This record gives sequence, C-alpha cells and structure tokens, in this order.
Amino acid sequence: MQATTSDPCQVVPANAERECTNPGRDWGQGQLRLCKTHHKQYGQLTAAYHAHQIEAATMYPQVMAFLDDSGHLMPMPGTREVDNALKVCDRTFAMLEKEINGREAHHRRFFPQMNNGHRMRIAFLREQQENVQAVVGMLVARKRELIELERARAVARRDQAGVVNLHESAINCWTIFVIALRLRRQA
Ligand SMILES: [Zn+2]
Repeated sequence: MQATTSDPCQVVPANAERECTNPGRDWGQGQLRLCKTHHKQYGQLTAAYHAHQIEAATMYPQVMAFLDDSGHLMPMPGTREVDNALKVCDRTFAMLEKEINGREAHHRRFFPQMNNGHRMRIAFLREQQENVQAVVGMLVARKRELIELERARAVARRDQAGVVNLHESAINCWTIFVIALRLRRQA
C-alpha cells in the first residue's frame, strides 16, 4: 500500500498523550511513517536498547563459560570464585532485563500491535535469563557445598588438635609418673 504525503505520524500515543498530527514521512523503516520529532525518538529508543543488547551479548557467554560441555558447573576451588561468578550472573541478568525493557518501550511507542519478530526476540531473551538463573542455582549449591566442606575441615582440624592435646597430656602424665617413680626410689 502506497502511503500519501498527507498520512499523519504513526507514533503510538502514550497514556494521556494526544495523537501526533504532524505529517509522517518514510524514513526507511518499513511501513512506519513518522514525523521528524518522533523519527528522532525512534532513533534514541533504538540506540538505547542496542547498547544494552551489545552488553548483554558480551556478558551472556561469560555466564555460559561457567558450564562445561555437558552443562555441569566448572570446578571452582573456593567460595570467592563462586561469589565472583554470581556477580557476573547478576549483572548479566540485569543487562538482559534492560534490553527487554528497552525493546518493550520501543515497541509500545511505534507499533500498535505486537509483531512476531519482537515477540520471538523477547522470548529468546527470557530464555537466556532462565539459563542465567539455572547457573545461579548451581553456583548457590556449589557455595553451600564449599561452606560445608570448610566446616567439616574445621571440625577435623579441631579434632586433630584435640588428639594432639590428648597425646601431649599423656606424655605429661607419663613424665610426672616417671619423675614420681624416680623420686620414690631415691627416697
Ligand atoms: Zn509524530
């Protein structure tokens, strides 16, 4: 369908906002015709979610790198490594959320009906968020294991120290007994 020059801007009015009556122009965004002001806003909102998209796309593989080929958590020697990994997950999840929110805001503003491409992209990002959450679950379980292990080691150390003390006090008793015996002989 060929739009005429008199077609108004197609920006979707926000709550309590009146429809834009400025003439819409074709800026090379498919069927979408916008006035100059809203074309500028289109660019700004696109740039905002693109920036988050780039960051999320960089961070997500870092989260997946915590898993081996069979989807199990890579070895992490201490709770500090686990904590650092949890921070990466946290930031990645938040960045995905920012991309989703940015895309939703953009879509609401310029498309009266949700299109399939948008729907699929949001579903894809939500799936990535779920994967990040699954890694978080594994990391929390690993941290719990490491804390338990540390606790068990501390108990073992204390027990070992206890054995040493018993041993030392046995020597002491023996020494006292020998001395006592010697004294008795001398008496
Ligand atoms: Zn407009």
